[in-house]
Amino acid sequence: MIYPITSKCNQKCIFCSAYNRYNCEFNIDDFKNFINSNNDNLVVLSGGDPFCISPSLLLYILNLCIEKNKTIELQTNGSKIIDFDENILRKIIFLMKRTNGYFNINLSSHNKSIDLKITGLKNGFSKRIKGIKILNKFGAVIRVTHVINKLNYKYLPKFALFLLKNKNLWSWVQFSFVKGIGRASENKYIIPKYSEVSPYLIEAMEILNKNNFEFWVDHIPLCFLGKFYQRHVDYVKINKGIKGEYVKEKKKIKKCRGCSLFKFCSGPRIDYIKIYRNL
Ligand code: SF4
Repeated sequence: MIYPITSKCNQKCIFCSAYNRYNCEFNIDDFKNFINSNNDNLVVLSGGDPFCISPSLLLYILNLCIEKNKTIELQTNGSKIIDFDENILRKIIFLMKRTNGYFNINLSSHNKSIDLKITGLKNGFSKRIKGIKILNKFGAVIRVTHVINKLNYKYLPKFALFLLKNKNLWSWVQFSFVKGIGRASENKYIIPKYSEVSPYLIEAMEILNKNNFEFWVDHIPLCFLGKFYQRHVDYVKINKGIKGEYVKEKKKIKKCRGCSLFKFCSGPRIDYIKIYRNL
């Protein structure tokens, strides 16, 4: 289950799904209720950006999760890590490891000028790579999330090669097609068609697959993933009978009738169909 621990953020990503969603400051009682009341073992600490809160508060939150035997996914854009004292970072990583957790770092491009266009943060690319290197030096487990949008989809194969070139820095990648909510709902031009993205995404997955680098995909239907449809996170969840919020944001359409993947797919995103009306 996802919990935003702050609404503060130092970036203005064009795809930000948290934009205008809430204005929250961390509330201890509310958070305790949250972790006490849900049975999900995984707690996703989100924002804003969790590195925008004070180090002591972040350590406190991690300790609360440890007390409840939760595994933590800590979502971040990675650019504020370098502002934290290295001893504090070591403690954060130590606590994350105790939860079997990992850092989920949003990396929008392999290229600094595209990164700037997407995130709006000057020198953001070099800051986040430096941050990732520090986490890596202290033994953190890192997952990369790459939000596919109009500005970066044609570079997916190059992004895959970039991941491989630096594969000691991260453990796996999740490709996440941009959601039509938050800031993207005001900038619909950044949402490409599934069919435009598909060949680039399949080529990127081919590259990673050949090199045994783990990858997963979400928010683009199975029928656009070629032979890699089993790498869709919903395919795995549906096969395991896992229920959750993920089914509420997607819906199969008329065109899905008769599809051989029907029972393994949750369909296109509802916000995507509102824009393009069809697959
Ligand atoms: S069920 Fe629909 S969205 Fe899913 S793979 Fe088939 S045609 Fe595509």
